[in-house]
Amino acid sequence: MSKTAIALHGGAGTILRKYMTPEKEQQYLSGLEEALTLGDDLLKKGAAALDAAEATVRCLENNPLFNAGKGAVYAGDGTHLLDASIMRGDTLEAGAVAGVRGVKNPISLARRVMEASAYVMMIGEGAEEFGRKEGLEQAPPEYFHDDLRFQQWQRIKDSDQTILDHADKGERNFSTVGAVCLDREGNLAGATSTGGMTNKRYGRVGDSPIIGAGTYANNATCAVCCTGHGEPFIRAVVAHRISCLMEYKGMDLQAACDEVIHRVLKELKGEGGVIAVDPQGHTSLTFNTAGMYRAAREGVGAPVFSIYGPS
Ligand code: ASP
Repeated sequence: MSKTAIALHGGAGTILRKYMTPEKEQQYLSGLEEALTLGDDLLKKGAAALDAAEATVRCLENNPLFNAGKGAVYAGDGTHLLDASIMRGDTLEAGAVAGVRGVKNPISLARRVMEASAYVMMIGEGAEEFGRKEGLEQAPPEYFHDDLRFQQWQRIKDSDQTILDHADKGERNFSTVGAVCLDREGNLAGATSTGGMTNKRYGRVGDSPIIGAGTYANNATCAVCCTGHGEPFIRAVVAHRISCLMEYKGMDLQAACDEVIHRVLKELKGEGGVIAVDPQGHTSLTFNTAGMYRAAREGVGAPVFSIYGPS
């Protein structure tokens, strides 16, 4: 029986320290703590890594502070187009959805794609129809509304500009959410969910729902979830690359994360970070931005909650 471990993130980038108020900081830290406690308790009670990762991400999706589910950013058409993916490390089964509207918890729809269909990825109306058929909880457009995110969209909606949650007022907030878990059986899983970029158009899809880019899990190596500027993350196949460095080059988890985030991605001018866990229960919270909303707990060790760097 292995020790359990969990790591989660609420997005890389974060509000610059000078714009952060003690109240806001406390709200973010409480949101991270609530999600970590939920996932960690489940793992300690013997839950599967997959269940704990999904439950943790649902908790973050339900928190309007983070850009996923409730409080997700506005797309160019004034709706919320949600992306999510999930993967289990024991069987390498995976599920993903992109550009879906009206599903309260997109991560659970991604899981349903994995478990109740013959596909790995579904998009748009087809994915929504599948979700309704599967009885996934639906939510009206108002449910996803958040004033700050609406204002961000209002400022740029008549342009071709897209922003990563908010890059104005000194804020640079890549705020996807994700969780990686190791359960007592030694199984790994990863789950990622996002609203993507404010004012995204033309069916733009980032790395978050792409298996190998935004999410990857393999019991032989690690589980990884990404956050940041999706395009470089797709080009660098970040999550799978970290796994490959461990599998084929024998790197340890932290060295593999450092190599990809601080060298490979930087060469592509890619900003963001990852959370990762290996089968021994080591976690990594690695980013090349000013901060990343993050939390982790290895076994019965002290939980870590943090916003700003260094990682
Ligand atoms: N990676 C996400 C995307 O590009 C955004 C984020 O992490 O905030 O859609």
